[in-house]
Amino acid sequence: MYTPLVEIEDLKVYYPNGKNNPVRAVDGVSLDIYPGETLGLVGESGCGKSTLARAILRLCESTAGEVLFDGENIFNLSPQEMKDMRREMQIVFQDPYASLNPRRTVGQIIGLPMALQGVPRKEIRERVQTLLPKVGLQETHIDRYPHQFSGGQRQRIGIARALAAGPRFIVADEPVSSLDVSIRAQIINLLQELQQEMGLTYLFITHDLSVVNYVSDRIAVMCLGKIVELASTTAIFASPRHPYTQALLSAIPRLDGRHRRRIILRGSVPSPMDPPPGCRFRTRCFHRAKDDACLEEPPLMAIGDGHYVACHYAVPSRQWISA
Ligand code: ADP
Repeated sequence: MYTPLVEIEDLKVYYPNGKNNPVRAVDGVSLDIYPGETLGLVGESGCGKSTLARAILRLCESTAGEVLFDGENIFNLSPQEMKDMRREMQIVFQDPYASLNPRRTVGQIIGLPMALQGVPRKEIRERVQTLLPKVGLQETHIDRYPHQFSGGQRQRIGIARALAAGPRFIVADEPVSSLDVSIRAQIINLLQELQQEMGLTYLFITHDLSVVNYVSDRIAVMCLGKIVELASTTAIFASPRHPYTQALLSAIPRLDGRHRRRIILRGSVPSPMDPPPGCRFRTRCFHRAKDDACLEEPPLMAIGDGHYVACHYAVPSRQWISA
């Protein structure tokens, strides 16, 4: 078995909320991410995906738990050590326009991570010029400003900036969600080519299950601050075991033309300030939610072949696919 590149241990991120309960955005997540893989992270809006991503990169304060990168607990690093660690772990944001400084040239934007690490200015320019064609831009783009580019090109700039320091691990947080459908595939293909070429490891966050199906080796499904299912992409799509995963998947068409029974969830999403005791999905579950067992929190249990599910009644796949 490989050694994981990133190990997340019982991570919690609670946002203080004045006098009320804190927002439990991430509430006890444990995950391993292996070298060279793409781990897809899916779940409905507000379930804690971005917070988890930022906490892994130490871009926000965690309440409890550990994140190990290459065996090293990043929460124990000094500011200087963390600065060095930043070379290894980078992020590509959803909205390339909001995340690029409009007053800086492409060369300055992509060069900033290198400048922060003390790379001489001339060398930075040369390295940026080498990077631009790798992300599908031209060397001559180096002195232009973000507003002179299309959305897709701006995301290419964001990707180049993430690559500039030579990272091993990249979190892509909804990297194509703000782009036109017509250019999403180009950006996804670019990320995949770069992964092959540079041996990168990705945590790919999206609410779009067709994207995650295309890019991921494994998929983690998040519901109200917790991982409720984790398996290979093939297993998640062929035999999802958690009713929440089944509901998410039921919304997308199958490639073989057969139809899934659409599962419409009733009831509103509980607040992460006051999640229901026991199973977090209990209040919306269409399965056996009323069983007393569901008042006990189900652990993420191994059910074989690297498939994990947090449900007392992991449903056999037979019941899932309707012919
Ligand atoms: P997702 O990426 O899955 O949409 P987020 O991680 O953005 O989810 O948000 C998870 C929960 O944490 C949501 O309820 C959101 O409102 C809350 N949240 C996110 N950021 C903050 C913050 N800075 N302060 C307080 N609450 C936050």
